[in-house]
Amino acid sequence: MTEPTTLAAFTQPTLTIAGQPAHGEPDQVSDPATQSVIGYAPVASAAAVDAAVESAAEASGSWAALPADARGAHLAAIAGWIRQHAGDLATTLTLEQGKPRSEAAGEVDAAARAFDYYAAEAVRIRGETIPTASPTLRSVAIRQPVGVTAAIGTWNYPLGIMAWKIAPALAAGCTVVAKPAEQTPLTVLAVIAGAARAGLPPGVLNSVSGTGATVGTSLASHPLVRKISFTGGTATGRRLLHLAADDIKSVTLELGGHSPMIVLADAPMVLAVADGVKRSFRNAGQLCNSVNRVFVERAVADEFIGRLTERAAKLSVGHGLADPEPDLGPLTTREGLARVEAHVADARARGADIRTGGERATGGDLDRGWFYRPTVVVGGADLRMATEETFGPVVPVIVVDDAEEAVTRANSLDAGLVAYLYTRDLRAAILLSERLEFGTVNVNNVGGGDVPFPYAGWKHSGLGVELSRAGMEEFLRVKHVRTELGYPR
Ligand code: NDP
Repeated sequence: MTEPTTLAAFTQPTLTIAGQPAHGEPDQVSDPATQSVIGYAPVASAAAVDAAVESAAEASGSWAALPADARGAHLAAIAGWIRQHAGDLATTLTLEQGKPRSEAAGEVDAAARAFDYYAAEAVRIRGETIPTASPTLRSVAIRQPVGVTAAIGTWNYPLGIMAWKIAPALAAGCTVVAKPAEQTPLTVLAVIAGAARAGLPPGVLNSVSGTGATVGTSLASHPLVRKISFTGGTATGRRLLHLAADDIKSVTLELGGHSPMIVLADAPMVLAVADGVKRSFRNAGQLCNSVNRVFVERAVADEFIGRLTERAAKLSVGHGLADPEPDLGPLTTREGLARVEAHVADARARGADIRTGGERATGGDLDRGWFYRPTVVVGGADLRMATEETFGPVVPVIVVDDAEEAVTRANSLDAGLVAYLYTRDLRAAILLSERLEFGTVNVNNVGGGDVPFPYAGWKHSGLGVELSRAGMEEFLRVKHVRTELGYPR
């Protein structure tokens, strides 16, 4: 197969089924900053979904039987292919998703690092020997791959999130059919086609694109699929869980969040403000672990709100490929922009104080895209944005009396993905972090999901674990082999 040498090859990718390029009805992909068509993705027909799952099932036995270090070598080759094409992938990612080019380059690198990490982890799949009551009886528990995996991803970090599913699944010995989000299919399809070019055996990694309602549902409900690994909204996750129940499929879900940031009176203020800005507005607030509500202790509320507002007002908004690069790109979808506008309108109607932003970013080229100004709102915990995920560049700040109130309010929602806590008091940091009902608690930092560390949504934010060694174990199942050696000769 020839290598793509131009950006056009990345913006008009094929599906990959049984190691071969496959086609489908072309679906336009648009730049959210300009609404211009930047590429086409083939929509997989029902027959293509069947063919992809069947090819994954066919490749399943030989891939699982391949020595782990050989599987690891294939993963390392995919990482190499991604790095070799990092420039075009990052540009394509900015064009389809909107994030600034340097952040897109960071996401491409994170995807390559995921393949490298699990290339090394593949050889560390271990079982255990269990003592028995008989001198002639041996018991071992071994771990084997779950089987054909449906990997369904979302559009805010399309390539990074998909790599976090595909790499551990392949390392564990599962074969995969991946479905990227309809809005952002290009980089994922390009990398899966690249994996075939990098020598991955046919059928081990397949792609299908199209809508969740059609392609996603038929993929997830296919009887040969044994595992669903999904990142997206909680409502879709719940639907997939119901669907998986019919066929007792294994499921890992990374769902919506509503992350609180707690700023106590003794917080390192400069750091808290800088991190608050970073985690509220990065990727235009389209992060599952975005700061969705700040609880600040009354004693430092004015100072924190003043500094946060000042910093937010200075952030630039523009096309992710512009020079100089803006701080924020556009919202990726029209629906996303409409939700931001609805949440801000609700805040206004309830009498909240919009300190900065509160409107679309307009003028010149900005009029063509879904741009919104970074927005800081001071209000009560009853605001819609303080209970529902806005998924946009908006942060409500709520003043609280003390740490107790902050923790109670933080735990009061169903979301349990990430919480942020700022304090100089080590004792408070440890005791409060133990009480926060979230899969990740960041104390005095806003480090995001990264491949060595476990990432798990608690409560309605997910099921199971992604990333780290634990993320690979989601694709393994235990088999107990009990052998009697004392049989008559
Ligand atoms: P959706 O749940 O709408 O979509 C996610 C994916 O599921 C898309 O590929 C979508 O296809 C597909 N899909 C939709 N319906 C079905 C269905 N019935 N059967 C199978 N697949 C389906 O989520 P959003 O795109 O709105 O993503 C935003 C959400 O994702 C936010 O809530 C965010 O917090 C969460 N998220 C969570 C992360 C985490 O790690 N916990 C990380 C990033 C985001 P289509 O392309 O047609 O939409």
